[in-house]
Amino acid sequence: MYWGLLLYVVAALVWWFISLEQQNNQMAKLRMQQKNKGDANYSTLVTETELLRQRKHVQYVGEGITFFALIMLGAVFVYRATRRQLRLNQLQENFVMAVTHELKTPISVAKLNMETLRRRNLPANQQAELVNHTLQETERLNDLCNNILLMSSIEGGRYVLQTEPLDLSALVRHSIAQFELRFANREFRVLVEPELEVQGEKLLLEILLNNLIENAIKYSPASSPIMVRLKQRDTAVVLEVADEGPGIPAAEMRQIFKKFYRVGNEHTRKATGTGLGLYLCKKIAVQHAGSLTVRANQPNGALFELVLKR
Ligand code: ATP
Ligand code: MG
Repeated sequence: MYWGLLLYVVAALVWWFISLEQQNNQMAKLRMQQKNKGDANYSTLVTETELLRQRKHVQYVGEGITFFALIMLGAVFVYRATRRQLRLNQLQENFVMAVTHELKTPISVAKLNMETLRRRNLPANQQAELVNHTLQETERLNDLCNNILLMSSIEGGRYVLQTEPLDLSALVRHSIAQFELRFANREFRVLVEPELEVQGEKLLLEILLNNLIENAIKYSPASSPIMVRLKQRDTAVVLEVADEGPGIPAAEMRQIFKKFYRVGNEHTRKATGTGLGLYLCKKIAVQHAGSLTVRANQPNGALFELVLKR
């Protein structure tokens, strides 16, 4: 419909231009026919008529070009806006499906575990395992809810950063300790310089950190280690979260920070997710006047780097 309409508008413009030109030429001819060849000032009259015809011609060409440029400008604008909207709709649809899935899984797992605990008389270690598993799932649910709430308040422009002096080293260590509990079978290689302070909001920096570590866990094989390093660099504090998974294709290193964006498509993806995590991480980093970037890890995997002012 868009291309059809555009074609029609351009064709109509060209058609009007041609018919105006023809009219102009006919008028000039008619004017000439009305003049008497015997007149003393005949040649002046001819020049005047020709000048008038040329002035009209220039006017039509000028207006035609202006109209054409305006139409093209509008067309490009509409085209880009519509395409962006369609893409966002598609992503949003995926997001709703993903969220529903992500919400339902922890709930059903927790329900099943609780029912098992109630019905059977299990040995203590199996009970502990079920409780741990349930806690892990509720933690995931909690993270997801935090992400969604944060997104809606950031989108609504309602979010006001409330910063305080924070011991980032302690925060990072605390977060990792939580992950070590939840993912007892994963190896975490941690290198945290002590007492690195930043000005920031605790909950937001926690969300950022948790999203980065969760991604590293989610997108790398269970047998590979997760590296977390926190160090000082001049007047900045640098946090690195790296994994040895497949990494991120160079062409998509910018895209992954966009809202709802996920690498691959619905059929090829194995890990579930909403595509919100890194979008929020970036927002949080920027709100803290810091930066968040990604590059390839050596020998393989992804390396995310957060830089904050000390
Ligand atoms: P969630 O909202 O649950 O975090 P998600 O993990 O899919 O969902 P993001 O955290 O924003 O969303 O990540 C966006 C995409 O970037 C992911 O879908 C994944 O394809 C890619 N990605 C992120 N981290 C890594 C990583 N460490 N290794 C490889 N790919 C990654
Ligand atoms: Mg994620």
